[in-house]
Amino acid sequence: MIRGLKGQLIVSCQAVEKEPFFSPDSMARFARAARDGGAAGIRANSPEDIRAIRNAVGLPVIGIQKRMMDDGRILITPTVEDAAALVQAGAIAIAVDCTRRGQRYGALERLARIKKKFEVEVLADIATEDEAVYAEAAGADYILTTMRGFTVDTTHVRRFEPEFVARLVRRLGTPVIAEGRIHSPEQARTALEAGAFAVVVGGAITKPKEITQRFVTSMRGDAKPRTVVGVDLGGTNTKAGAVRSNGELVQAFAVPTPARATQLDLLDHLEKQVRRAMEAAGEPVSAVGIATAGWVDPATGTVVHATGNLPFWTGAPIAAALQQVLRLPVYVENDANAFALAEGRFGAAAGASSYVGLTVGTGLGAGVVMERRLLRGAHHLANALGHMVVEPDGLPCTCGQKGCLEVYVNSAALARYEGSLEKLAEYLARGCAAVVHAYDPSVLVIGGGLAVNNERLFELLRERLPELVFAWERRGTKVMASGLGYEAGVMGAAAVALEG
Ligand SMILES: [Zn+2]
Repeated sequence: MIRGLKGQLIVSCQAVEKEPFFSPDSMARFARAARDGGAAGIRANSPEDIRAIRNAVGLPVIGIQKRMMDDGRILITPTVEDAAALVQAGAIAIAVDCTRRGQRYGALERLARIKKKFEVEVLADIATEDEAVYAEAAGADYILTTMRGFTVDTTHVRRFEPEFVARLVRRLGTPVIAEGRIHSPEQARTALEAGAFAVVVGGAITKPKEITQRFVTSMRGDAKPRTVVGVDLGGTNTKAGAVRSNGELVQAFAVPTPARATQLDLLDHLEKQVRRAMEAAGEPVSAVGIATAGWVDPATGTVVHATGNLPFWTGAPIAAALQQVLRLPVYVENDANAFALAEGRFGAAAGASSYVGLTVGTGLGAGVVMERRLLRGAHHLANALGHMVVEPDGLPCTCGQKGCLEVYVNSAALARYEGSLEKLAEYLARGCAAVVHAYDPSVLVIGGGLAVNNERLFELLRERLPELVFAWERRGTKVMASGLGYEAGVMGAAAVALEG
């Protein structure tokens, strides 16, 4: 029973396909090491892994089954049959995704059915207080903070929050188990102090790649840690925040962009967001980075030509205007370039010297870093990969041409395909193939609204690219999801400031 795990460490032993440790045997070895180190329980995915772990160690196992759903995203234990297989394999408790999205897939009814049918304890993985309250009412035996920071409603959370655990403990009668982004022994300790019943640690113990990445990121930061402010000015929202040079997001927020405002009012809006982020940081800020859509001259920090979304932004002297009032160095960059810099510094391309970042959302942006240098071109107009023509005489594009890639790979296009991700992925794969042929990157990082949490899109790309790219296998190019998720805009602008 989970009751015996009070005050103890539970180690989550999981790997996904393509990871070097993806095998039941590897998971069993991690479980043995965890047991020998003093862990009292294991959390594991799939009957195969659980069987191997149960054969190797005598510890109680919390079972889950991750499965891709029709919305292209992974869900934890989506069916009663999955739970049956986990119990059969030896799991003594079952965890179910009870977030708002999970509930749309019937999580609460399923949770009650699993509990009744198999007489096992059921655990609810949640992200917010409300979700925890619903899960408790549905009969969950334990509430886990697993999904906090990983759902649409909690994108602002980028670190483990003991205060969230404390809030749940105050509000619920059900024991709360802390899980998610617990990277250090100190954080595990604070979780118990906040009232957690037990603590689950995963990646910090069983994902050598993530552990290595944190070292690399930290070492690539400046010798003396510093804090900068990043502001990502989009056509709809402005996202701002303070970021430390080691990649830690101190604080971030989003406000609507007054897109139709005059140039002076927009500059005023930017200044306000920078000041708010500086205040919230509560520590000295050494530089400011601004990422904005459109054609940007980073040398002068001005907008050469704005996009249609910000009609009065052309010619805006962003750096000069802000430097004067803020008395800090201000650096300005195109948002897709900023995204690429951030992925190299903090994200999925950390450690890579030649890589390409693509953002797929309302439009298609790209930033190319070759041998550690961002390519900007003779007129700061390089990497306009969205305007490669993929359909001669195709649909009109904002650039005045017809048949540009961007028109076939954006949110509007997905709606036009009636949600068929396959069609969009095919166009994107062709674009990626051209990018790989042109630049030969070691990593292709894809972010933006359409790519975040969209496992299915990456599956389709990885399926198709070997057929489209010359010598794909020998290159070993990695296709990776953005490591920065919803905060990529702020992190990008911060990377611009740190790059100087
Ligand atoms: Zn175009």
